[in-house]
Amino acid sequence: MKKSIVKKVFATALCTDKVLKRYMNIFTYNKYIRIKYEGGQLDTPTAKAVAKAMKTWALKNGVTHYTHWFAPLTGKTAEKQVSFIDIDHKGKLIEEFSAKSLIKGEADASSFPNGGERMTFEARGYSVWDYTSPAFIKENGAGNKVLYIPTAFCSYNGTALDEKTPLLRSIEALNKESVRVLKHLGMTDVKNVVCNIGGEQEYFLIKYEDFERRLDLKVTNRTLLGAKPTRSQEYYSHYFGIIDDKISEIMNKVDIELWKLGIMAKLQHNEVAPSQFELVPIFAPANISSDQNQLIMETITKVAKHYGYAALFHEKPFNYVNGSGKHINWSLSTDTGINLIDSNIENRDVFLTFFTAMIAGIDRYYKLIRCSTAHRGNDLRLGGDEAPPTLISVFVGENIEEMLNKLNDNSKRKKSILDMGVNCLPKTSKDFCDRNRTSPFAYTTNKFEFRMVGSSQTISWPITCINTIMANVLKEIADKLDEATDPKTEIKNIIKSNIEKHKRIIFNGNGYDKSWHEEAARRGLVEYRNSIDCFDILKEKDIVDLFDNTKILDASELTLRKSTYEKSYFETIKVEAKTLVELVLKNVIPNINKYIIELDTTSKSAKDSRIEIKNLLIDSLNKLSKLSTDLLALIDKLGKNNFDKELLNTSTKTMEDIRKVYDSIELYIPESTKPFPSYNDMLF
Ligand code: ADP
Ligand code: MG
Repeated sequence: MKKSIVKKVFATALCTDKVLKRYMNIFTYNKYIRIKYEGGQLDTPTAKAVAKAMKTWALKNGVTHYTHWFAPLTGKTAEKQVSFIDIDHKGKLIEEFSAKSLIKGEADASSFPNGGERMTFEARGYSVWDYTSPAFIKENGAGNKVLYIPTAFCSYNGTALDEKTPLLRSIEALNKESVRVLKHLGMTDVKNVVCNIGGEQEYFLIKYEDFERRLDLKVTNRTLLGAKPTRSQEYYSHYFGIIDDKISEIMNKVDIELWKLGIMAKLQHNEVAPSQFELVPIFAPANISSDQNQLIMETITKVAKHYGYAALFHEKPFNYVNGSGKHINWSLSTDTGINLIDSNIENRDVFLTFFTAMIAGIDRYYKLIRCSTAHRGNDLRLGGDEAPPTLISVFVGENIEEMLNKLNDNSKRKKSILDMGVNCLPKTSKDFCDRNRTSPFAYTTNKFEFRMVGSSQTISWPITCINTIMANVLKEIADKLDEATDPKTEIKNIIKSNIEKHKRIIFNGNGYDKSWHEEAARRGLVEYRNSIDCFDILKEKDIVDLFDNTKILDASELTLRKSTYEKSYFETIKVEAKTLVELVLKNVIPNINKYIIELDTTSKSAKDSRIEIKNLLIDSLNKLSKLSTDLLALIDKLGKNNFDKELLNTSTKTMEDIRKVYDSIELYIPESTKPFPSYNDMLF
């Protein structure tokens, strides 16, 4: 029988356990698997055997190089390719990949964001193999095949300089504390609790030729200028609309490439804004999911380019239409197959323990949750156009709220039925709760969905923050249960107290409503509107203690993150401002001038024609000249600003003013002297 495409390609580029088993001695392989899934340190002979198996498999697949693949705090991934070529002690050419090369790589850490932690003269950094995320083969456009080994990146002193290290620490802490709690709740057979993440990725696709003609898109990934398109999303016709053939070609190719890497690309559809799309893979353990998300963005970018499109992951590439986000679906499952976040699980106390632990955690540390999404692009997106507001709350839905209000009611929940009033349409059961598009953190029957994360951000940091908060709350619960004489009663008290103390964070209504923001203020919830208000949160005592208690980041590692995120925020605005100046001076003004001269020439040559026509031309000419002068004055003002922290607001305000002036001019400029493709050109 012929194999289906999925079965033919799935995981063919992934170094799975099955692949390793094929090339390893069974005893060594079993030892490796035991360490991988039950924990512990890998010894050198085992690592040697794994390295040999990886190399054999890679060479068979035409691979010439390997690389340690890591995620420094740049938001992007990093790699340094090394070929397998070597010579043995007799001087003979060999292809070599030692245990040492697999386990540890060395790189200059001073050129990566390090918050001043590493000077160039003491710059050593290490990449250390993370065997919980499988290695894979990537083929680039030039046909080169490279073996990618996921690694964590730290300094010479072991300071985490990347996204992965704290994520892995948070996963381990969460596992440990969850198992401790579950023991007291009678689930003594559970050895491991895994954090699962399903990340939904939104993005835009526009024609590459349009992208290339816009300096702002090329440099900053967003349009700094551009008049409102004549149509945007008022008909709601793009969302789930018929997928264009060309886009479908890209989506299908992306899926195939992702399947090869063992990524279960599952859903693809048109999103709300014109030219906006979404890809959703099936959830996976957090660490793997986070690596996969990087590969998803990279694959979409590459495939789109191949087909003549540019993929945009910026949170707000276009004003006036919806921006893009990345929803993180979060749950916890046991190695015995139970989703602890599922409201349907038999042991309601287990569900309520974990559920209310999350409520308590988010309420106590909502500022950290907000801070985990602080990012220039997100500032432009949050708070409107279906993106969550910057005010944190948790949506739980009416049914769960009722459950929380009636803790002693253990009656089985009735399923509600969806009846559409037509006999030929089957009656089906409804979900336990509705959706809420304006909630930053929503419970959705068997998982929490964090909807605030920006589309270009790495998901590791927000997940790390959620995990850290949860691990800390669970640790406190486990400590209390350790002390309790009657854990069964104690857990009921804990659940009750978590609801009573922390229910202020629950909000099921419209997150945009002014009345909610007033109510939240009464509840003592602070809204951090801009990213710039968020970075200092990482220095606050309760947050430093939180990361310290759970041993996920020490104070210096947190400071490093704070300064890195903050710096990147300022740099982004600086680059935007510089790009805007260049765009206006080199593109906009010359084109407007060209048109002004055209108008001038026409008006002069029209000296014999009717005075009304002449006046009309002069009128347009004056209008454009005035706008052009205004633009130049604003550009001058922006250029003079040295982008100090204090002047930041003035800069961003001036950038907005420039945009306003340009956007109103754009409508007067004819096709022939248009400086670059308009929104209408790019989006439709
Ligand atoms: P939505 O309800 O937001 O339209 P889906 O139901 O398609 O989205 O799910 C979105 C993502 O959530 C997918 O990646 C899916 O695999 C993931 N997901 C589903 N169940 C879980 C779970 N228990 N834990 C984590 N992620 C999950
Ligand atoms: Mg969703």
